[in-house]
Amino acid sequence: MALDRAYIFRDREILVEGGGDAAKAERIASFVSADIRARFNDRVSGGTALILQPGTPAPEGCSFEHLPSYFFTHDEAEIALTSRLKALGSWVDGTRFCPSCGQPLRLHAVETALECPACGRLIFPRIEPCIITLITRGDELLLLRNVKDTRGVYACLAGFVEAGETLEQALRREVREETSLEVENIRYAGSQAWPFPDQLMMAFYADYKSGEIKIQESEIRDARWFRPDALPPLPRPGSIARRLIERRIRELKGE
Ligand SMILES: [Zn+2]
Repeated sequence: MALDRAYIFRDREILVEGGGDAAKAERIASFVSADIRARFNDRVSGGTALILQPGTPAPEGCSFEHLPSYFFTHDEAEIALTSRLKALGSWVDGTRFCPSCGQPLRLHAVETALECPACGRLIFPRIEPCIITLITRGDELLLLRNVKDTRGVYACLAGFVEAGETLEQALRREVREETSLEVENIRYAGSQAWPFPDQLMMAFYADYKSGEIKIQESEIRDARWFRPDALPPLPRPGSIARRLIERRIRELKGE
């Protein structure tokens, strides 16, 4: 069953109609093949993902919206569908050749997979596990400004899980590498698919245990303890970082 909407992405943006929902399916016909980097027809959801070339203009009556803002204004089912199609579209866009023999891959007839017509190897969509954590010390929150940030935003500490690690080990290692601190009392706090292109963010609260902040300058511009009544600019609503911070502040205020 085909959906009456299409999921058309340009970098971190989605094409929306005037009312703010994903573009009508017929908008696909507005783009010529030179505009389209990749297309994925998802048998599971019935949805189609298009990945456009950078700079492709929106058709008349539509505009591009930042995906985190789109997530903030839509419900969980729509966020899950959009994340799935963005992740699968980006995966097809970035997975063109067989890693065993170098032949071009094609979509598998039944599975959500790519297959190599020469050697038969199947390639499944990739999901990269990441941890994200909000560390507290008494009523203070540790927030960090990334070296890539240009908007003055302070966020939670995050990083990729490495081969062979548990989530808790990855969390302790990332905290140590980026701040030189030690943490304890790690508590699971939810998760969010983050299809930029294929992360699964697993969120935790942790308590400060010991150490002085010493930042890893290649990754972090600044890291500080903030009190809930004197916070810096925070990550966008709709991100799990923002949810972690807001929930913890409500707890600290006893709400
Ligand atoms: Zn092959």
